[in-house]
Amino acid sequence: MPQKGPPWAHNSVGASVHTALRNWWDLPQPQRVPGSLSTLLRATWVREGYRDEVQQREVFTRALGWLEAYLAGLDPDFEPLAVERTVAAKTAVIAFSGRTDRIDRRGDELVIVDYKTGRTGLDNDDARGSSTLALYAFAAQRTFRRQCRRVELHHLPTGTVAAHEHTEESLNRQVSRAEATAQDIVAAEKSVAQGVPADDAFPTQPGPMCGWCDFRKICPAGVEAPQREAWSGLVLQR
Ligand code: SF4
Repeated sequence: MPQKGPPWAHNSVGASVHTALRNWWDLPQPQRVPGSLSTLLRATWVREGYRDEVQQREVFTRALGWLEAYLAGLDPDFEPLAVERTVAAKTAVIAFSGRTDRIDRRGDELVIVDYKTGRTGLDNDDARGSSTLALYAFAAQRTFRRQCRRVELHHLPTGTVAAHEHTEESLNRQVSRAEATAQDIVAAEKSVAQGVPADDAFPTQPGPMCGWCDFRKICPAGVEAPQREAWSGLVLQR
């Protein structure tokens, strides 16, 4: 595996916040008080990718504010069904698994909750179109043997929730798409084994995201893209 791109500051803050939230739910309920948050976040804080110490401290304070506001908005008695739980499913074509941020139980149904710390402006269409969330819901139904149709993106910087209520059909559609993608990959792998150049079997798709790509340095299509500074993604999190 080639060396990846820089350690991105936006990934550092995302990972730190996710881990702090996981550890929050691990605490016994009486210890889930706002005063614990600073300790939790400090313990999980990833320091890589920031421009300097000043920026890193500023982002820490901002992230702590997101957590305080988010958790203050939840019912103090609320208890998730599962946190960072892996769910898995198998169809006639593929087997897949993934780790959910959180699974809530609301009435008789399950809800997939995914925390977001990146770009602003997430809306219900993002929740509707997310194949990852749909596959989580499909797999959660299998894992817990309980209906799971609702998926939610919890955007911590703005405290907003984007949500979508799937139907059985829309979940099945997303699974069919994943199956088709898997079949395309297998076909491309076979063609490479038969001598087709890998660049033809797996054509690159250069675009605005090339500057963020971990493989930009070794990708002929992306090498021309300007390298982003490791902390430049933070601007999207304000
Ligand atoms: S085309 Fe861009 S995004 Fe795709 S691998 Fe190359 S650098 Fe990365």
